[in-house]
Amino acid sequence: MHEMSICEGILDVLKEQARAQNFDTVKRVCLEIGPLSGVEIDALKFGFDVVMRDSIADGATLDIIETEGKAWCFSCGTAIVIGERYDPCPKCGSHQLQVTGGEELRIKELEVN
Ligand SMILES: [Zn+2]
Repeated sequence: MHEMSICEGILDVLKEQARAQNFDTVKRVCLEIGPLSGVEIDALKFGFDVVMRDSIADGATLDIIETEGKAWCFSCGTAIVIGERYDPCPKCGSHQLQVTGGEELRIKELEVN
């Protein structure tokens, strides 16, 4: 499962941060996830609990902020919001879009001890 390896990547970042900033427990992780990141949020939540078990983030709360998918439509010259990567422009139906946001998967906040 793709989300498991994402969680392992998050744990690596947490460990690095713990070393750099001298904390040893993570209480809360807040992630920002865009709809175009390809991440399934339910799977990520499940993977998070499994991967964090017995680590510095054992039992940590996972908060997820879902951002919007944003794109620029070349046909009608409008900034639009899309739900999925291959969605057409909601204004003119064009597929000539440049994705400008919504691909993010990042740690936005950490609460540590
Ligand atoms: Zn358009």
